[in-house]
Amino acid sequence: MTRPFTFPGLTTRVVFGHGTLAQVPEEVARLGHTRALVLSTPHQQAEAQALADRLGDRAAGIFAGATMHTPVEVTEAAIAAYHAARADCVVSLGGGSTTGLGKAIAVRTGADQVVVPTTYAGSEMTDILGETAGGEKTTRRDPAIRPEVVVYDVDLTLTLPVALTVTSALNAIAHAMEGFYAPDRNPVTEALSREAMTAFRDALPVLIQDPKDPDARAKALYAAWGCSLTLGQVTMALHHKLAHVLGGSFGLPHAETHAVLLPHTTAYNEPAVGDLLNPISDTFGHGRAGKGLWHFARSVSAPMRLADLGLTDRDLDRATDIATKNPYANPRPVTRDGIRRLLQQAFDGDCPA
Ligand code: NAD
Repeated sequence: MTRPFTFPGLTTRVVFGHGTLAQVPEEVARLGHTRALVLSTPHQQAEAQALADRLGDRAAGIFAGATMHTPVEVTEAAIAAYHAARADCVVSLGGGSTTGLGKAIAVRTGADQVVVPTTYAGSEMTDILGETAGGEKTTRRDPAIRPEVVVYDVDLTLTLPVALTVTSALNAIAHAMEGFYAPDRNPVTEALSREAMTAFRDALPVLIQDPKDPDARAKALYAAWGCSLTLGQVTMALHHKLAHVLGGSFGLPHAETHAVLLPHTTAYNEPAVGDLLNPISDTFGHGRAGKGLWHFARSVSAPMRLADLGLTDRDLDRATDIATKNPYANPRPVTRDGIRRLLQQAFDGDCPA
């Protein structure tokens, strides 16, 4: 029997293809705007300037100060620049950090957002914003955070370094993984997440050999869209909670942390979710989802050990305490012993049992 579901609808317009950056001016015009502030990290400032040049009269300037974890001081500086330039919308060109800044501006000013993602992190299709103030990261969901338009241009991902290609893809797969057992999953998230598994499985081995392969890049970006859409429609559980704890309280890098945790969080929940993770084991083999992901991650040279990301074994008890302090919904009960074991396994990089 078909499982009952609620489909929240699709509110973000998506343009996907090669060379679609050229369509950004027309997307800004379509929203009825005339002065876009282009956002980027300092690393992608030249690309932001080129996009502002392309926007011509529709550009209000650039703000190239986006940084990881969306610190509120940066948001305040960007909002000052937004008002000083008399901007009426933002165009966010970059990965999750730049998209985060655009969302932080939008939720405070009502600005419309056109997002041009250049990684696979998957913030662009979501109503989620994580921000840091006084060293603490908090996350909220609000319809005002969700971007109006996303322009996926495969060509912009050709420069994504191989290491970030791999970790960013595993970050995306983590959204799909938790989407398969989310209580509010729906047939659209399930179908797209299933397709995304296959696309990433086929694309990543090609990309680690040839990062500029246009077809593999297209497959990977398409997969990232599916995973982002899933993240934007369903509730996440243990995996995202642990990644948040390790990033927020121990300063571990975002995509790498997701990549290392993924096989272990998957294996932790696997006994509690029946056959819901079969799309993962069907795609990656080895009979079990967690095990299949571990072997896949190793085959594409992903980081495998929390120990290599700067965590020390003295941190493991404290991370366990923080991760188990407040109860949250998860398919398998979150116990202190269970999480401590999971973290030890991820720390050592062992294949999940
Ligand atoms: P990032 O945006 O910090 O990018 C990492 C670095 O790579 C930056 O210097 C960036 O300029 C550079 N870069 C990006 N694309 C490039 C390209 N194509 N070529 C060359 N260099 C490129 O990293 P990320 O992993 O995309 O994003 C991480 C952030 O996103 C975190 O703060 C995380 O919390 C957030 N995030 C939020 C959501 C959400 O729904 N709210 C979802 C996923 C991630």
